Amino acid sequence: MGLVQVVFNIPVDREFTYTTNEEVPFGCRVVAPFHGRNLNGYVVGTEPLKEDGASFQLKPLRRVLDKEPLFDKEYLALARWIADRYYSSLGEALAAMLPGGKKETEVPLFEDAGEEVFITPPSLSPEQEQAVKEILSKEDGLYYLFGITGSGKTEVFLRVAEATLLEGRGVIYLVPEIALTGQVVRAIRERFGSKAAVLHSRLTPSQRLTEWRRILRGEAPLVVGARSAVFAPHPRLGLIILDEEHEGSYKSSSSPRYHARQVAMKRCSLSKARLVMGSATPSVEAYYLMQKGEIRGIRLTKRLAGGKLPEVEIVDLKGTEGVFSRRLQEEILITHREKRQTILFLNRRGFSYSFHCNTCGYQMKCRRCSVSLTFHKQKNRMVCHYCGFSTRPMDLCPSCGSLDVGYYGSGTEKIEEEARRIFPELKIARLDTDAVERKGTLERILKEFQEGKIDLLLGTQMVAKGLNFPGVRLVGIVLADTGLHMPDFRATERTFSLIVQVSGRAGRFAPDGKVIVQTYMPQHEAVNHAAQMAVDEFYKKELENRAELRFPPFSRLFRLVFRGKSEESVRAAAEEIGTNLIRELRGQAEVLGPAECPIGVIAGNHRYQIILRTKAFLPVHAELRNQLARVKLLKGVYLEVDVDPVSLL
Ligand code: ADP
Ligand code: ZN
Ligand code: ZN
Repeated sequence: MGLVQVVFNIPVDREFTYTTNEEVPFGCRVVAPFHGRNLNGYVVGTEPLKEDGASFQLKPLRRVLDKEPLFDKEYLALARWIADRYYSSLGEALAAMLPGGKKETEVPLFEDAGEEVFITPPSLSPEQEQAVKEILSKEDGLYYLFGITGSGKTEVFLRVAEATLLEGRGVIYLVPEIALTGQVVRAIRERFGSKAAVLHSRLTPSQRLTEWRRILRGEAPLVVGARSAVFAPHPRLGLIILDEEHEGSYKSSSSPRYHARQVAMKRCSLSKARLVMGSATPSVEAYYLMQKGEIRGIRLTKRLAGGKLPEVEIVDLKGTEGVFSRRLQEEILITHREKRQTILFLNRRGFSYSFHCNTCGYQMKCRRCSVSLTFHKQKNRMVCHYCGFSTRPMDLCPSCGSLDVGYYGSGTEKIEEEARRIFPELKIARLDTDAVERKGTLERILKEFQEGKIDLLLGTQMVAKGLNFPGVRLVGIVLADTGLHMPDFRATERTFSLIVQVSGRAGRFAPDGKVIVQTYMPQHEAVNHAAQMAVDEFYKKELENRAELRFPPFSRLFRLVFRGKSEESVRAAAEEIGTNLIRELRGQAEVLGPAECPIGVIAGNHRYQIILRTKAFLPVHAELRNQLARVKLLKGVYLEVDVDPVSLL
């Protein structure tokens, strides 16, 4: 007989005590009665039964789910840090960190996408050699491989991983998205065999549990995976690799809203492990830390597989008709004549993204969100990209009945249709979330592209990341400015990074790579600096802007989003806490808002936000916790708090 303290995956930060007749180890999952329901929970404490009689009022546990613990005291300390830092409950933090499966099951081999070449180089380049040596010179430390696209960062990561495993310490290798990281996964499989665990999104909860136990037992000391793999429970962690550090997908969009980079820094400092980040386009925050010397920046400046950085040409779209400028058409044909391949990139899926009435100005928006609907031609639906709502396309204005209506703006579907019309002799394929809905499509298209069966591959972010194809001569950025109009201080940084990354797909194996950047804003610094590959100049300018506007890295932000069906209640709640925050944080933080969010309604919920901006992170964090503990939200109003938000929409 004993007592156990249990936390649940609910937004209530409290431990609940139950009685039990059996031995229940710390760190196991249990089922316990909670307000008339049975909930899964985590055992975060155990103690003997007290004699004072109070225990008799406690309820007994229903069931114990694990024979052996999933985590230890040290791991719980990390969970407490996550919960504290990101204002979640301990139970929510543990739920985000631990696998959910009940029974261990066999894990099939991960089938990766395509047949990209990854040759283990017989020798490292001098720059790579130097990088490996420097990182291994200490058993911990923060490093940043700041290398142009194609400069062989992967090989440095792998060598450092290998050395860490030889020290008897574990490795976590983080990538933005595992499905698009075929070459890394293959290299890891080849070199590390069953010592590697690949945590990809298609694993079932039970398969995740199997891998979790393997890691705990030290049988899989190398783990590769996306964001949540940062929580892998290595008994002796020695290294975390964070590839493509700038990627937005490292930030969780549900509670706890953690950033894998911050968690990685915390874990590495707790375990005295090395953290090695890498990118051709670091986040402005990381660049600033390198500049200040808080992260050791290591430069890689040369392409190694026979390629050179491509020649970039900016084409001003003003005055051109259609989406293919004359220059882009010419280069596509030249590329085809040379039996090489083209990648076209556009950051918008669908066919057209706005339906507009030329008589009364009506614009078709989602009924439940304050955003325009996107026309998807293949599905023949108008679709909302925020809530999934869809409706039939119209050929007259629903507001005034006029027939003078049109669909404006181009998405990838339209680019595909145009490309097929202009270049009937080319074999063309499209990669975006619509095109790869069917399982296996992504893998098939990448394989065909690799084998040269596709001449022109077009798509969204999916073609922008990591792809390493020898046949690619030309990269066309159909419209570079799509993201620049977003009301977000990171819009410039994101556009710059995307152009550099997409351009980096060209000329990886031959020195004749070519990039055409189409834009209506040829003078914009993001476009300009990216086209000239003037990376340091870009960061210098961007840091000046950030300093002037007091945005990160010169301040830290907290974002409070209030949402609910009643705009009145949402605004009232935001104003009340806003007033309190202004009073309590005077002199320590700026309180911006409350104001309607840039996207004022999503899925029928009105949204208001408050942004706190401060240089005094810890005191403001603590005071905000006080305020949050005190706030009584009106019925039907929900509050989300985001620490260091990456999106302000
Ligand atoms: P990055 O991640 O920096 O963009 P990759 O790691 O994908 O670059 O490397 C680009 C290419 O260079 C790959 O095809 C890789 O096989 C090759 N490569 C890496 N290191 C070497 C080397 N030392 N010698 C020759 N080729 C190399
Ligand atoms: Zn109208
Ligand atoms: Zn919607």
